Amino acid sequence: MHYHNEDSQKLADAIITYSVERVRLDPPPLDAPKPLSVLQRDVGQTITPEGLGAMEALRIFTEQLAPACISVDHPLFLSFVPGAPTESSVLFDLVVAASNVYAGSWLEGAGAVYAENQALQWISGLAGMPSTAGGVFVSGGTAGNLSALIAARWQWRQRTKGAMNRARPIIIASGGAHSSIGLAANAMDADLVTAPVDEGGRLTAASVHATFRALSPDDRARVCAVVATAGTTNLGVIDELDGIGSFAHEHDVWFHVDGAYGAAALCARSVRHLFGGIELADSFIVDPHKWLFGPYDCCALIYRDVRIGKAAHTQKAEYLDVLIQDAATSLDEAYNPADLAHHLTRRARGLPFWFSLATHGTEAYEEAMEITLQVTRDAADMVRASSHLELVVEPSLSIIVVRRKGWQPEDYRRWSDRMLHEGTAFVVPTTHKGETVLRMCLVNPRTDPVQMQMLFDSMLVSPR
Ligand SMILES: *Cc1c(COP(=O)(O)O)cnc(C)c1O
Repeated sequence: MHYHNEDSQKLADAIITYSVERVRLDPPPLDAPKPLSVLQRDVGQTITPEGLGAMEALRIFTEQLAPACISVDHPLFLSFVPGAPTESSVLFDLVVAASNVYAGSWLEGAGAVYAENQALQWISGLAGMPSTAGGVFVSGGTAGNLSALIAARWQWRQRTKGAMNRARPIIIASGGAHSSIGLAANAMDADLVTAPVDEGGRLTAASVHATFRALSPDDRARVCAVVATAGTTNLGVIDELDGIGSFAHEHDVWFHVDGAYGAAALCARSVRHLFGGIELADSFIVDPHKWLFGPYDCCALIYRDVRIGKAAHTQKAEYLDVLIQDAATSLDEAYNPADLAHHLTRRARGLPFWFSLATHGTEAYEEAMEITLQVTRDAADMVRASSHLELVVEPSLSIIVVRRKGWQPEDYRRWSDRMLHEGTAFVVPTTHKGETVLRMCLVNPRTDPVQMQMLFDSMLVSPR
């Protein structure tokens, strides 16, 4: 199985043909999950002593398994945060796999790391980070937030010169922060202190100040980080970044900005002003696999001072010593990505995003971003103009939350199930302040306003 032969050539042709056809589909089939019993019946056991042979295994994937997965790049996949990778990024992902690059160290992956770092620099520049900034692509926002907060803790213990080495850190975050912040606090055995949000779901500097003041002096000394969100996952709300950043600097507390979804819009002129203050961040993240048109799995983690990320995360082991010396030689781009997060081995997961960015240029990204923002504005206008729908909140980025007047939770569920099983759209009900509503997140430039109108019209009749 390690040698090329006629069969593997046939497989190569089949894989290229399938891949090219799949990326070309506009729209791709929406598809839907199947119950386990159905997959057991239709697919059965695939792992056998003799093997199925490549063409049969590929057939099972393309005919049975792939259709049992929802296509996140369908233009009416509007649940959670969808993806909308460019053709070039997806095709280049095949090249990344074929190239077998270990992208954890400069020694092994210099070329890949060089290119990834240019993509990171673009993001870092959009946020107004200084030249000391640098970072790494990790698997997702969850991994990015954890790694950033570990660096925050390292810095806090460093700054307090050992006095806090045995103390539990406190992380201040908003009630609207993503669940991964709580998960990180849990993994770090840190106490998460929640600062209340305002009416619109926004964390303000006043709330952070009040939360901090309410702590005992001992607890205040334990605060190692404050986390703001640049585009909450539920509503797209951007916290008061400048005020919270100033608070953090005043109190010598690490300022982390979670922009996993929203910070992608830093490249869009029409909304750039909403992110004022992100330049104060000690670290921030954004997921290219969400709204920067890259495939899974890819999160950009940026540190204001890359040396802190490195000090907090570098693993020490005899077999790695050669890498440490290599990395110590310079502070420019020649650092080891493995040293900047909670990981070691990593694929060059930033390369598909880099390739697309290098291919199309940054202006194309800005344009695609503005298109999704404009479709969101158009869709919000459609809701305002309708008699059966209402906006639950005013959209600030590309999330709209809609109430269908008179619907009960089961009406939303039935409509949502019908849309999925007809292959029309994937929009799941969510709750906002206890009320069942629909949330739609638009990140795909191929989502067109006509389709959005059709979707809204399909809610005129109640499903029974
Ligand atoms: C999606 C999201 C995350 C988690 O990112 P993953 O890539 O799914 O791990 C964290 N924070 C925010 C604000 C998000 O929207």
